[in-house]
Amino acid sequence: MTKFSDLALSPKILEAVEAAGYETPTPIQKGAIPPALEKRDVLGIAQTGTGKTASFTLPMIQMLASGRARARMPRSLVLCPTRELAAQVAESFDTYSRNIKLSKALLIGGVSFKEQDALIDRGVDVLIATPGRLLDHFERGKLLLTGIEIMVVDEADRMLDMGFIPDIERIFSLTPFTRQTLFFSATMAPEIERITNLFLSSPARVEVARRATTSETVTQEVVQMKPSRRDRAAKEKRELLRAIIEREGEECRNAIVFCNRKTDVDIVAKSLQKHGFDAAPIHGDLDQPQRTRTLDKFRDGELRFLVASDVAARGLDIPRVSHVLNFDVPSNSEDYVHRIGRTGRAGREGKAVTISLPADEKLVGAIEKLITQDIPRVGNPMRAAAAKSEQPKRTRDRKKSQTSSLEAVGRRSGRTVGMGDHLPSFIAMSFKERAAV
Ligand code: AMP
Repeated sequence: MTKFSDLALSPKILEAVEAAGYETPTPIQKGAIPPALEKRDVLGIAQTGTGKTASFTLPMIQMLASGRARARMPRSLVLCPTRELAAQVAESFDTYSRNIKLSKALLIGGVSFKEQDALIDRGVDVLIATPGRLLDHFERGKLLLTGIEIMVVDEADRMLDMGFIPDIERIFSLTPFTRQTLFFSATMAPEIERITNLFLSSPARVEVARRATTSETVTQEVVQMKPSRRDRAAKEKRELLRAIIEREGEECRNAIVFCNRKTDVDIVAKSLQKHGFDAAPIHGDLDQPQRTRTLDKFRDGELRFLVASDVAARGLDIPRVSHVLNFDVPSNSEDYVHRIGRTGRAGREGKAVTISLPADEKLVGAIEKLITQDIPRVGNPMRAAAAKSEQPKRTRDRKKSQTSSLEAVGRRSGRTVGMGDHLPSFIAMSFKERAAV
């Protein structure tokens, strides 16, 4: 079995890895670290949750450990599709470079330019950025990319979804062609293939999981629901969501609830709060400090339900998420894989429950085809609850029908016993029958 010490990492880095509690390298780490340390380009086809962040941060730290950064000329660049992911990568650098002095700057929207400019002016070894913000800085003349020795593109498929590919191409062209490129994507869409052919030079290709496979430690379920009326579907879906949460009980330590639309993210979060659940929304329209606060609370276990849109949640590494609850079936099958990848991380157990309306069944079928796996349909917990609450009523009904049959007996017997034709059914019963009522 390959060990971290087999990967040509320096003792200081091995120490940091050990301190992080990692025992053995994950397949992407085994595959990507050695060629990266040989200064080769790497094309990593891996999803989040596979340990891919360490597969590029560890060799970068080692390679950047010698040498010094010059003012306004960062030595390396990591491009991430979202601010959250960029912040997470920055955290990884902090964790793994604890024994090595490296300067870094995080360029993300929602943070003041002034602070970021000051960092860049001093010179940084590692610049972690979202593409738009990086180009903003570049255009303001505050940043030169001609000193980039290593460039990382993380989650390229998400960059593609978000329309960042032209920005990425521009950034590539602003960096020296002698740079080393480490490029990561969960899937290889034709557009991604084109970019890699254009900007990577004979890369080591490391593919760790089949395209769009879901983790085996995640139990998946689809709860089918048929709204009583079309205009009640949203409300009934929120009721069902609560019923699912109740059904999961304490097993549902925390959950990310996914909605397809930002407006629904807000509505569902508010509705959960109104019903006494500890929930908060996260989507692209919320300001950065608010997003960071919510995320930190969720990470620290102070918030139980994070209601999210796909873009906001993509790539987030939140360990120990017990449940993913899909309020909507994602219209893009690959988003399903990314969503449920938020749970069952690093070999832990997780559960993903998806609410599906009759109109969504086609989408569920497409997901099943993509993951080459059938997702079990389970009973609607609301129907189960309704059946339970109906039980005493049915017993009552049974008694009622018993009574009416006795009335009929009384009527048939023609006994009047001085009470006219209105013989109370109770009197028409034998003692045995009365005791049974
Ligand atoms: P990533 O795919 O980079 O988002 O990483 C997913 C999770 O796996 C993170 O929480 C990492 O801290 C964790 N991780 C990374 N490498 C290892 C490893 N070799 N052993 C155990 N956990 C790891």
